[in-house]
Formats: sequence, structure tokens, C-alpha cells
Amino acid sequence: MYGEVVRTEQLTPQLVRVVLGGPGLDGFAAPVTADAYVNCSFLPAAAAYDVPFDDAQVRELPRDQRPFPRRITVRGWDAERGELTLDIAAHGDVGYAGRWALHAEPGDRLQFRGPADGYLPDPDADGYLFVGDESALPAIAVCAEWAPAGKPVTVVVEVEDAAGEVELTSPGDLAVHWVHRADRAHTDEALADLLADTVAALPRPDGVVSAFVHGEAAETRAVRRVLLRERIVDLDHLSCSPYWRRGLDDEQWRAIKGDWVREVNAETF
Ligand SMILES: Cc1cc2nc3c(=O)[nH]c(=O)nc-3n(C[C@H](O)[C@H](O)[C@H](O)COP(=O)(O)OP(=O)(O)OC[C@H]3O[C@@H](n4cnc5c(N)ncnc54)[C@H](O)[C@@H]3O)c2cc1C
Repeated sequence: MYGEVVRTEQLTPQLVRVVLGGPGLDGFAAPVTADAYVNCSFLPAAAAYDVPFDDAQVRELPRDQRPFPRRITVRGWDAERGELTLDIAAHGDVGYAGRWALHAEPGDRLQFRGPADGYLPDPDADGYLFVGDESALPAIAVCAEWAPAGKPVTVVVEVEDAAGEVELTSPGDLAVHWVHRADRAHTDEALADLLADTVAALPRPDGVVSAFVHGEAAETRAVRRVLLRERIVDLDHLSCSPYWRRGLDDEQWRAIKGDWVREVNAETF
């Protein structure tokens, strides 16, 4: 399946909205969960082929010509217009997904598989907590929009600075806390606890909390520790996923991600 860029919008200095359309999206399955994602193929400069291509055939090509897979959340699917919206974090002049989004122009094509699904805010929970950085902001925005009316929805999002903030909406009783990286050094040591410290300082929520904690690996791990240690959220109501790892590209990260997740899941409090 593939889409053609209809328009782009620089939502913030770090986040680019890309809207895809065209006949390559015919048959796209509407997401049934808040963090549905597509597995996109970003082409290297050496690629001597165009979208659409045959997945099995390009897998046989030398490494420098094969596409680079990157998972990106479905920020929106407009079935009537046949338009798929992706919000992609641009993080300097690096990364296949980030750079592609920065330079995307109408008519450019993006091939992908999916969507695949995961988390849905539990309708029976007493409240909701959604935590992450720009990579999880698209999913967090959908989570907030899909949360039930009238219940407390707490969102904690890390962005570079105030210019990175976007408007979020929810039928719930929404409280958004923006956390700025610019206030700290950009090292693992300085940033790992940034979200966790903010979450720990929040007033303790009442009742059962359904939580979604996705984003940078060390940061999501630190938030998970706070939520479980302080008994703010129980494991059954926690969706925690390390989308990416500071200092590693996606290929390096996927090579060790399984071990990381096993280690994190073994942590009990
Ligand atoms: C299920 C799922 C859904 C996701 N949804 C989204 C989404 O909707 N939007 C989105 O932007 N990302 C999303 N991500 C994260 C995204 O797939 C990764 O961040 C991916 O590594 C980005 O690829 P890239 O080619 O831009 O950078 P890479 O080639 O993977 O990395 C290049 C360099 O950039 C760094 N880097 C990677 N991501 C970031 C970042 N967010 N901020 C700062 N530095 C970074 C790496 O550590 C590396 O040093 C999702 C991940 C998963 C697993």
C-alpha cells in the first residue's frame, strides 16, 4: 500500500505533518485503536526503483539499496477523502523518516504495510495518563481524542521548548503538562528522568488509571518505574513501549530492543 503526499505542514520546529492520499490508499483499514501505526519504507539515495515496489524483490537487493523500515502512528484517517495523516518528528539532518518528512513535497510517494494496532483507552478506567515525547505525541493526541467524556485525562509531553507545543483536545477533562528539553543538557543522564520527575510530581490520581507511556527508551523506563513503584498504575492498565533509543538509529535499536524490553519487563516493585 502507498500514499502520495497531498500536503505537508510544519506543526512545530520538530514535528512535520504529512497528509497522504491517492489510489494507493484504496482499501486502507480504518484503525480500531488509538496508537495504530504503519510500517513505512523510506528509500535510500542509492535506490534505483520507485514506489510502488515489490517488497520481496527489494529485500534481495544489496543493503545500501534496500528501504529502511520505520514505524509511524496513524494520526488520522479520513475515509471520505481517502487521506492518511502522519506526524513525523524531524530531529536534525539525520534519520530516514525525519529527513523525508522535512523535505516531502506534493506528489512524493511513501509505501507502507499496516496499519497494526495496540492500545485503546480502557472505557471503564477512572482516569487516563498519556506520557511521551514528540514520537509519541501523534498517538497521545489520538488517545486524548478517544478518551471517554467527563473523565480526567492527564497528558505529559516532552518537547524541545514552548515552540514545540501543539493544541490537544479531548472529550475528557484534559490537563496538559509540557516538559521542555531545552531546560536540561541533551544527554541520556540529564534527560532520562525528565518525564518521570514530572509524572512523580503530579497530584496522585484516584481510582484505576489507564496509562500510555511511549517514546524514548530510557525515559519510558523511568516513567514505568515511577508508575509501578508508587502504585499509580497497575501492570494490567499500562501500555509502555520504547519507540526509539537516544544515540541509536532504528536498525541499531531494533537489534537490541528485544533484550531491553525483557529486562524492563523483569523489573518488579
Ligand atoms: C509503534 C511506533 C509508532 C511510532 N510512531 C511515530 C510517529 O508517529 N512519529 C514519529 O516521529 N516517530 C514515531 N515512532 C518512532 C520512530 O519510528 C523512530 O523514532 C525512528 O527511529 C525514526 O526514524 P528516523 O529514520 O527519523 O531516525 P533513525 O535513522 O532511526 O535515527 C537517526 C538518529 O536520530 C535519533 N532519533 C530517532 N528518533 C528520534 C526522535 N524522535 N527524536 C530525536 N532523535 C531521534 C536516533 O537516536 C539516531 O541518533 C514510532 C515508533 C513505533 C515503534
